[in-house]
Amino acid sequence: MLNLFCSVLLLLLLSVSGKVKSPNYKEYCVIGAGPGGLQMAYFLHNAARNYIVFEKADKAGSFYEIYPIHQKLISINKRYTDRTNKEFNFRHDWNSLVSHDESLKMTKYTNEFFPPADTLVQYLNDFATKLNLKIQYNSTMHDVMKRDDKLFQMWDQHDNAYTCKYVIMATGIAKPNIPLIPGYELIEGYENLSTNLSQFMNQNVLVIGRGNAGHETAQYIYGVTNHVHMMSRSRNKLAWATHYVGHVRAVNNALLDTYHFNSLD
Ligand SMILES: Cc1cc2nc3c(=O)[nH]c(=O)nc-3n(C[C@H](O)[C@H](O)[C@H](O)COP(=O)(O)OP(=O)(O)OC[C@H]3O[C@@H](n4cnc5c(N)ncnc54)[C@H](O)[C@@H]3O)c2cc1C
Repeated sequence: MLNLFCSVLLLLLLSVSGKVKSPNYKEYCVIGAGPGGLQMAYFLHNAARNYIVFEKADKAGSFYEIYPIHQKLISINKRYTDRTNKEFNFRHDWNSLVSHDESLKMTKYTNEFFPPADTLVQYLNDFATKLNLKIQYNSTMHDVMKRDDKLFQMWDQHDNAYTCKYVIMATGIAKPNIPLIPGYELIEGYENLSTNLSQFMNQNVLVIGRGNAGHETAQYIYGVTNHVHMMSRSRNKLAWATHYVGHVRAVNNALLDTYHFNSLD
């Protein structure tokens, strides 16, 4: 009875001081279950922290269900290295996340050096499930704010409120970069691009932008077009010249062959 009285008194005191936490309180809230959010969740889970990951899709890694549009990853799946040193091998495996579970390596999921994107989606969801990561799917969070008591508050799409001591944004870069080009409304953006080759058959196609997305697209369609013309504000930056993985990768640059051979591209 005394215990009950003390608990009620404590709750009253906390309420008066404004420090009471809502039932939806977590110490750590991670928003987004892409590779970044999952990796964060793994470390929070292992450290036995009170955490939750909110993900707006119904699965982890949903970015890769759509992108790259032509569904071939450019992150390499290096399965053999002639070395037994795990750190060395891991350094050359561009897709796997860090975990203690040896079965959770992308190298065990596919033999392809440039894997299909849906294999990565499968891998990321296995990572989440096998490691029992606490993820609340179908939860789109909005209006993250910091309250006077220094706790963060946010809501999902059903206006359920959540409070957290720490918020980790792992929402990626989801918005297309729309350039200010007059007439842009007449252009297909990469994010809406059709992968139906018959739409490009016998066509003259202008690709604006000479990064990996532009080159990936040109390479996908150049077998059926009359010619592909590429334009951008700067010269091609080729990864083999710059050593930067974000520049145009050799696996995407086949159009340079047909350009140099005067094959109409
Ligand atoms: C066209 C393109 C091709 C790429 N190809 C490759 C490749 O081949 N290999 C490679 O390694 N990298 C590739 N990348 C880079 C890769 O996308 C990112 O490095 C990686 O996905 C980033 O992981 P992330 O977890 O930070 O974000 P994301 O993978 O984008 O994950 C963010 C997550 O947050 C969720 N989310 C967003 N907003 C909310 C919200 N309000 N509430 C709840 N959840 C939310 C999203 O649904 C998503 O699941 C490519 C990028 C682009 C643009």
